[in-house]
Amino acid sequence: MKNEQPVGRIRFMDQQRVNLDGFAVENAELGLTALRSPADPAPSLVITDGRVTELDGVPEAQFDSIDAYIARHGLDLAVAQEAMALSDLAFARLLVDPAVPRQEVVRLSGGATPAKLTRVLAMLRPPELVIAMTKLRARRTPSNQAHVTNRLDDPLLLAADAATAAAFGFREVETTVPVLGDAPSNAVACLIGAAFGADGVLIQCSVEEAMELELGMRGLTSYAETVSLYGTEQVFTDGDDTPWSKAFLTSAYASRGMKMRVSSGAGAEVLMAGAEGKSMLYLEARCVALARAIGAQGVQNGGIDGASVAAAVPGGLRELMSENVMAMMRNLESCSGNDALMSESDMRRTSRTLPIALAGSDFVFSGFGSIQRYDNMFGPSNFNAEDIDDFLAMQRDWGIDGGLRTVAPARIAELRREAAQACRAVYAHLGLADFTDEHVELAVDAAGSKDLGETDTLAVLVAAQAIRQRGLTVVDIVAALDECGYFHEAERTMAFAQVRLSGDYLQTSAIFDEQLRVLSLVTDPNDYGGPGTGYEPSPSRQREIDAIRQARGVADLRAEQAQFSVPLLAAAGPARPGQGPRDVVIGVSPAVGRDVWRCLSGLVVTDVLREMLAGLEEEGCTGRVVRFGDTVDLGRIGLAAARLAGSGIGIGLQGKGTALIHRRDLAPLANLELYSVAPSVTPELYRLLGANAARHAKGGTPDPARNPYSDEAIEARYHTTVIALMELERRRMVPGALPEELSLEGLT
Ligand code: CA
Repeated sequence: MKNEQPVGRIRFMDQQRVNLDGFAVENAELGLTALRSPADPAPSLVITDGRVTELDGVPEAQFDSIDAYIARHGLDLAVAQEAMALSDLAFARLLVDPAVPRQEVVRLSGGATPAKLTRVLAMLRPPELVIAMTKLRARRTPSNQAHVTNRLDDPLLLAADAATAAAFGFREVETTVPVLGDAPSNAVACLIGAAFGADGVLIQCSVEEAMELELGMRGLTSYAETVSLYGTEQVFTDGDDTPWSKAFLTSAYASRGMKMRVSSGAGAEVLMAGAEGKSMLYLEARCVALARAIGAQGVQNGGIDGASVAAAVPGGLRELMSENVMAMMRNLESCSGNDALMSESDMRRTSRTLPIALAGSDFVFSGFGSIQRYDNMFGPSNFNAEDIDDFLAMQRDWGIDGGLRTVAPARIAELRREAAQACRAVYAHLGLADFTDEHVELAVDAAGSKDLGETDTLAVLVAAQAIRQRGLTVVDIVAALDECGYFHEAERTMAFAQVRLSGDYLQTSAIFDEQLRVLSLVTDPNDYGGPGTGYEPSPSRQREIDAIRQARGVADLRAEQAQFSVPLLAAAGPARPGQGPRDVVIGVSPAVGRDVWRCLSGLVVTDVLREMLAGLEEEGCTGRVVRFGDTVDLGRIGLAAARLAGSGIGIGLQGKGTALIHRRDLAPLANLELYSVAPSVTPELYRLLGANAARHAKGGTPDPARNPYSDEAIEARYHTTVIALMELERRRMVPGALPEELSLEGLT
């Protein structure tokens, strides 16, 4: 046989989303290797007369520009000998030993060469990386960064989305453009919007470096992180750069009061065919050493653009997390990746992010797409607006602080409206652009730019040009907010611009909290030293984490059930034993017809009873409905119903929809037929249950029901509701209560 098809099992597996991902055969020559390559140098450091004369096997005469820069500016020679003398194993153990403080690891790492740190980190197993990150991040309080962009660069939508991101808790908002000329407008729109969501959110507009620096110097943005570093000289010079030019740019930002971190990460050199056969972790170790040497505040790494390249090789996710830990070891802020979608599989992308969320990082994401995937102009992040509720649930599940919080839906609507209206008012006041009421309404309600319809994108470009040409600054925006009546936001934005002048936020890992206090390595240092130490959410923060909007209690369920109440099933006196051989009793639980009206399947109880009565009638029997108030146990209800019935056959029905057929002479736990999966029982099945009860009554042959096909997470969806429903039943239970007949009026 030619072209033989794989068997059905394999064909089925092939269809799963994970098989859209590319997986590479490990190939060290191409740099497709995560943690180790035969071409990685052995660690070495020779210091002659206080000068590095050999670095990781390369003598001074053969240093490339990266070696030279690290050798001259990147190593603490006072501890170098001590650090390099430690065995890889002894060094690796320091990272996870709770008795060894962070400062000690940082001190020794300052004297370790890139090849040394590569070997040390390659020894850590995944849970050890989690412990190392928990201990080694600089800032005690974790936080998170958002991407706020849209395909149209629509200012009103950007403002509404920046307000939303700030309200969700993101402490940095990064925007960018599909059209470079729009950049000044995007920066202004995000600046205005974020001020509505929360105080002290740092804004970035990631664009070409001259424009980015200019926007920062005018106070329209407050940080930058796109200065890229590479691990080989060839890739550096292909980009017309050297370590010195990057150092110069870094200083330019810092000297103008801009917070500044660099970007690097695995896979970039492989993609540019310049990996020189080295492992991804070793090349990144050179970037991180260089980041320290050029005086950057921090590093955005963990793959970034090359995350899916790292994820394509064995051990790739260990490499990505090791990059973040390495930045922490060098006492730099870690903006920990997760900003590129590394897989089509929800499980793989969650698997990539979870350990970092558990450990906590300075920024758990160096760009969580707070907008929809299609609007993310950096390309989709590993998590996007599609995943915010998942992430909030993950935070709550593990009791961890990933930087986000739930915001009440009404509050989101209010913030979006205020932000969009203020943005329109400022643009009009400054003569930048005029937007219609309808446009405001569309932006408030939009889940993404596709919901805006046709917009005037040329108007945005014109507004952006005006902002640039007229040299507008943050002071102009503040004045415009004030003159348009947004006094509070004007003050907020002004206060924020003022605290930036003090320069405290140029410290490592600095963010502002919502009281405009700086949290950084200096003011909020990580003091993790094992259980009972380090960051723990405050009680009020923990309540924020726990209070997701989907949580339901008994009172919520009672109110929900009440919406389905109808004037049927009235009590009609004490139930009496039936006489005829065709008399079948349907026994219902205590709260049915009082507090419980709708089953888990979504069918209302009266419809379920109608189907059962119709089924009985089809087979020539007569049904009665009797409520049993002294038990919530379905077996006992069914048996009691059977004992009341003239035929000796009863049906038991709980308010949640579980049903069974019982016979007078059986034990309570035995029964003739049981529908146990209440959420998936259909009207047809309830009718069949009635018909089968009648067949039992007549001594005929029932037609057994089969459970419908289902792949739902039945328990996850319904168990909390079941617990609350049973509580409603229990509260109606009265020991010794006599069964009462319920009126069939309106049911038959
Ligand atoms: Ca970022």
